[in-house]
Amino acid sequence: MGRFFSKRLSGLLPYVPGEQPQDMQYIKLNTNESPFPPSPKVVEAIAGESEKLNLYSDPECKVLNDAIAKALGVGKDMVISGNGSDEILAFCYMAFCDDDTGVCYPDISYGFYPVFKDVFYLDGKAIPLTDDFKVNPDDYIASGRTIFIANPNAPTGISLGLDDIEKIVKGNPDNIVVIDEAYVDFGGETAIPLTYKYENLIVVRTFSKSRNLAGARIGFAIAQKSLIDELNKIKFSFNPYNEDRLAIVAGAAAMDDKEYFEKCIGEIVRVREVTVTELSQMGFEILPSKTNFIFAKKEGFSGEKLYTELKKRGILVRHFKSERIKDFVRITIGTEEQMRTLIREVADILK
Ligand code: PMP
Repeated sequence: MGRFFSKRLSGLLPYVPGEQPQDMQYIKLNTNESPFPPSPKVVEAIAGESEKLNLYSDPECKVLNDAIAKALGVGKDMVISGNGSDEILAFCYMAFCDDDTGVCYPDISYGFYPVFKDVFYLDGKAIPLTDDFKVNPDDYIASGRTIFIANPNAPTGISLGLDDIEKIVKGNPDNIVVIDEAYVDFGGETAIPLTYKYENLIVVRTFSKSRNLAGARIGFAIAQKSLIDELNKIKFSFNPYNEDRLAIVAGAAAMDDKEYFEKCIGEIVRVREVTVTELSQMGFEILPSKTNFIFAKKEGFSGEKLYTELKKRGILVRHFKSERIKDFVRITIGTEEQMRTLIREVADILK
């Protein structure tokens, strides 16, 4: 590390995003994007807005936040949006943690949680998932920490029921519980209704998966007004114009186009089930997924080898090296045709 770099951050291990080859030569099943383009209404909205890029965007993101509130049936003052849900999660770390209020999260979960812990110089505790890769709510009661739980979880794909989420929220009345619902639209149960009941609950969502807008960088949080006000305090102290003009109109149009959203989700869930059936027949063990990806392993065949062999054949999936999950690969659900190619290549590799 150079002599100018912060000593406090000298041990920082940055988040490693999935590979993003720019030549688009691969069948990309490694970063849980949607295989479908954004709604035509999104494309139209962006075209109209692009002429106004000489002017700053609305720091209140009103058009976007109001569209989110309307689509999800929550109050307009219960929404904040940000530059991807990563930024919203970062705001939560800044707003609701302290020297004496660290964070906790499952040991196998979204890789950014421990990175933010280090960036914001907080004490962190990774709580092990059960042997069958589930979150045990009892492990989170009276944690004394700000809790981050992805539900459904990633990279496992496993979803926790609302009763269990409520148990955690109720069991931590003096701490914030952040439920990261990046993948909830693919079959999970949302905790949004609980935000009315609990002043310590924040639900975080993204447009990157189910709204086909990973490249637009839009995420948001739903919570009671007092928490949203505090998140806004951080936002306006950090990056007031955090959503650009194109993202604001794109997000609003995507939220309004319920029909397109439901069509894409329906297709991804259908193709997911077909893929699960086919891979199971080939001897794969697949964790029960409520997401747009599956987490799969084949006895006697290492996750790394499968990843490498698939890459040679032009298919990118995600492999994690950490001990408990090194036998698995995470496979994003693509189009039916892409998944057919995947199945064919996997069969050939196993031969
Ligand atoms: N949470 C989880 C669980 C995720 O998998 C991701 C995607 N990598 C994110 C949050 C961040 O999504 P984005 O910043 O694209 O909204």
